[in-house]
Amino acid sequence: MNPFNVAKFGGTSVANAAAMNNCANIVLANPATRLVVLSASSGVTNLLVALAQGELDEGEREAQLGKLADIQQSILQDLGQPSEASAIIHGLLGDIRKMALQATQQTDAELADRLIACGELMSTRLFTELLCQRGVKAQWQDARQLLRTDSRFGKASVDLGASRVLCQQALAPLLGDTLIITQGFIGADGDGRTTTLGRGGSDYSAALFAEALDAATIEIWTDVPGIYTTDPRLVTRARPIPEISFSEAAEMATFGAKVLHPSTLQPAVRRDIPVFVGSSKDPQAGGTWIRASTQSSPLFRAVALRRQQVLVTLHSLNMFHAYGFLAEVFGILARHRISVDLITTSEVSVSLTLDHTGSQSNGEPVLGDKVLAELGQLCKVNVETGLALVALIGNRMSEATGVGSRVFDAMRDHNIRMICYGASAHNLCFLVNEGEANQIVNRLHQELLD
Ligand code: ADP
Ligand code: ASP
Ligand code: MG
Repeated sequence: MNPFNVAKFGGTSVANAAAMNNCANIVLANPATRLVVLSASSGVTNLLVALAQGELDEGEREAQLGKLADIQQSILQDLGQPSEASAIIHGLLGDIRKMALQATQQTDAELADRLIACGELMSTRLFTELLCQRGVKAQWQDARQLLRTDSRFGKASVDLGASRVLCQQALAPLLGDTLIITQGFIGADGDGRTTTLGRGGSDYSAALFAEALDAATIEIWTDVPGIYTTDPRLVTRARPIPEISFSEAAEMATFGAKVLHPSTLQPAVRRDIPVFVGSSKDPQAGGTWIRASTQSSPLFRAVALRRQQVLVTLHSLNMFHAYGFLAEVFGILARHRISVDLITTSEVSVSLTLDHTGSQSNGEPVLGDKVLAELGQLCKVNVETGLALVALIGNRMSEATGVGSRVFDAMRDHNIRMICYGASAHNLCFLVNEGEANQIVNRLHQELLD
């Protein structure tokens, strides 16, 4: 097999038939592309999540189901109502209706994943049909036969070894012969039950497939021509970055640059697979190459923002000169599979930030009552919300002199709730009031990146 490319298209890229046609042009323009990974059409996953939560009354439910059917129907209509694809899509819409009703009686995470996965199942069926109509040899593949995960519905972890075997067995023999179209975001546990990888997980799926199949490159096609110095929706002067290192891009993704799911670069780094990010609406506009090493490594590269952060402060007099307290706290958090972002300590208290952006596919909050009760047995717990995490990304930041003064000068008009600096040469993070976050990102960009 020649070196080949995995191309992933996000929700807006497959929002309708015209957008899907742009994707087909991109796929056909690069003969190395053998595997295509798709998200659900724009808006579909949100509609499915709302149905899976089971809280809508009948009227609201029907309205959501109607919107879903309209999105699929409009694509089918542009494709000339092909009989086989129409039957499959209508079958899936019927399944969604049944599961949505079931969710009103009893919500459970397994049902939610089965329901939410239908978005990707539909978009891939429609895109395969579109390619076949354009005379391309293309085959639909169920990603649940390729990605083996644990049974943590809503944010499953992938079994890399098992998935590699499944991908190699099912796909490697086909890749030279036909284009394969599969779903991002979904997998299955050892019992064949559908799981999802967390919101935005299709980028991660594409990288996992590339790793499992030893691909040479990964392309992430989205609605912006590359990774920008910050979210271009937030700062109009943000500019695309032509080339960025794995480490910098991974920090950006971790700290909120939605353009890449936080885990995307892990498989790429493990196999040293370069990743391209570009716009499916405007492929000529170029994009960003993410690689192990880059020509330039500026001190300040980008600013990322993650909203809806939670600050948990744990206060206990027993902590004073004692040992084992933090181990107990982290033990509780680990049992509930909560990951901590930033941490600061004082003599008798510890502050931790948690990501509360609902990265679980089913929208469940990370900090449940059970965790709070367990922590409460150990110490006094204070939870603050309404915060945002701003991360300045760059290179050698912990070695260079004057970084602090430039950054703090830019932050002079704002209250900083917490700072993390020094653990990585690539970032400096602040916790700030969410209401000021946009202004802070704009100010940092203006003073350090413009
Ligand atoms: P897709 O549906 O293709 O996966 P997403 O909406 O998940 O697309 O990600 C693309 C969006 O990420 C952009 O529209 C942009 O608003 C946002 N974004 C946030 N930070 C950045 C950044 N630094 N560079 C580019 N886009 C960013
Ligand atoms: N469709 C899923 C979501 O909206 C996965 C993805 O788009 O990457 O989160
Ligand atoms: Mg995305």
